[in-house]
Amino acid sequence: MPSLRKSNVARLDGRVFDVLVVGGGINGAVAAACTAARGLQVALVDRGDFAGFTSQESSNLAWGGIKYMETFEMGLVAKLCASRNRLIRAYPSTVKEIRFFTTHTRGFRHGLWKLVLGTWLYWVLGRLFTRTPRRLSLATMAREEPVVNLDGADGGFEYSDAYLHDNDARFVWNFIRSALDHGCVAANYVESLGSVRSGDVWETRVRDLETGVEKLVRSRVLLNACGPFVDDMNAASGVTTPHKHVFSKGIHLIVPRITRTPRVLTFFADDGRLFFVIPMGPRTCIGTTDTRVDSPQAQVTAEDRAFVLSNINTRLRLDKPLTEADVIAERCGVRPLVVANTGESTTDWLQLSRKHAVDVDEATAHVAIYGGKLTDCLNVGEEVAEVCRKLGLELPYPDRVWYGEPGDEAREAFMHQAKLMDLDAMTHEDSSEVLSSRLWRRYGATAFVMLEDIRRDPKMAEVLIEGAEYLRCEIEHAARREMIVKLDDFLRRRSKISLVIPQSELRSAEGLREACEILFGAQAESRLREYFA
Ligand SMILES: Cc1cc2nc3c(=O)[nH]c(=O)nc-3n(C[C@H](O)[C@H](O)[C@H](O)COP(=O)(O)OP(=O)(O)OC[C@H]3O[C@@H](n4cnc5c(N)ncnc54)[C@H](O)[C@@H]3O)c2cc1C
Repeated sequence: MPSLRKSNVARLDGRVFDVLVVGGGINGAVAAACTAARGLQVALVDRGDFAGFTSQESSNLAWGGIKYMETFEMGLVAKLCASRNRLIRAYPSTVKEIRFFTTHTRGFRHGLWKLVLGTWLYWVLGRLFTRTPRRLSLATMAREEPVVNLDGADGGFEYSDAYLHDNDARFVWNFIRSALDHGCVAANYVESLGSVRSGDVWETRVRDLETGVEKLVRSRVLLNACGPFVDDMNAASGVTTPHKHVFSKGIHLIVPRITRTPRVLTFFADDGRLFFVIPMGPRTCIGTTDTRVDSPQAQVTAEDRAFVLSNINTRLRLDKPLTEADVIAERCGVRPLVVANTGESTTDWLQLSRKHAVDVDEATAHVAIYGGKLTDCLNVGEEVAEVCRKLGLELPYPDRVWYGEPGDEAREAFMHQAKLMDLDAMTHEDSSEVLSSRLWRRYGATAFVMLEDIRRDPKMAEVLIEGAEYLRCEIEHAARREMIVKLDDFLRRRSKISLVIPQSELRSAEGLREACEILFGAQAESRLREYFA
């Protein structure tokens, strides 16, 4: 049977799509999910894996942008808070409220009370949706988070935002999956080589990077969602837009778990910016940085690593300071920031707004998305659908709900079935949560199929890869439905296994070979070699 990817690549030519989305990060994924659900014929290609670039490097937060209050961007903060609230409501098991436990040091550019009042204003701008902020005395801080170094501190405060439980790339994948469920023809490892307008359609030449075969994809609307490569893609298609991107590099380091409390420890780093210690399952993710760079192909430098490690070691009371040897994995990405395309260079770097812009050329039906955040993704999807309507495409289902977890009734039915078969008793002793919660969160309604697989064969509930919370039935499911081409697609993006298990352990992990056989069949050996090369 041909794979889902192969059959989708075969369906890319031969008809005129309503929309071709180039780029499968968060912006492309939500655009495809929303337009496909509303009834358009949509195709999407990405030259890497879905979410394989910026959208796998974020801080995993859905947040209202408390720091933009410093530049008095209250409208933006209110809007981002509304987007965050909408995500928490729509994805109760994936996007979760989390407390930010913040330390304030004497002499910081804003006094403690000013910041405490700021958190209350933030809460009001967030429409009182989350738990109320709290001022923290030094005694409370010492009692609740003994790992925090309070030297020089005069107190602190706690406020709420939200985080993505399963990580950013998985979050993006679920939008791609939902687009596929609504008939979108999506394929990873297919590169756009540029587009030309021919009559009233766009013709985009694409290359399947797995086979080298080239095709022509025809569409009424062309959507450039290439993230940091939007400007390059526009240049390849001869398009100019009112906006362009500049880049800010941010890195995170994944280290052994620092605290067991499910909250984000927050500090002001040496450069005065917010600095986070974020829970990531059995590990902790620390960062980030903000450095202006000229190219999207940024890498973690020794200086970045030293900055993050020295900040963390100063602000925490660890038994042993963290060193490079403790780093399990690294994340590095560039924030694509929107500026006017005037030809002038941007000087006011740190004051740059983090808003997104959707540039539309009505005459040629060309759309380009600039900037954006995971937090604001539902708005981006809906804006693109509305743009398509204005460009003359009729949306057969304009009001269809296109996002969110299945409702309470479906969840209760799932939990009931799980209870009847005593699913949670099969949870591996090292797992951080019971099986029923995890399967529901990761797969939603598709998790019912997994219950059936486990009832048919209890071996399906075994953890296949040592140290990873992944069952045999999940890997079989991933092979069928998650368009995994390379081992990294599975280990880094559909799951976060490679972020929490060091490479050296992964290489010898029992079960990895069997997982590869399920995922890649005859190509198992070569995919393993490619990954560890
Ligand atoms: C360090 C850091 C921390 C962040 N933290 C947060 C956070 O906590 N919360 C939040 O909301 N946001 C956060 N962001 C912002 C957010 O991650 C990004 O704005 C978002 O992921 C950008 O998504 P995108 O779809 O525009 O770009 P990408 O995810 O980069 O997607 C673009 C895609 O286009 C593809 N592409 C490029 N050229 C071609 C071509 N020729 N043919 C086919 N495909 C092509 C690429 O392969 C890529 O997959 C953070 C960003 C960074 C860097």
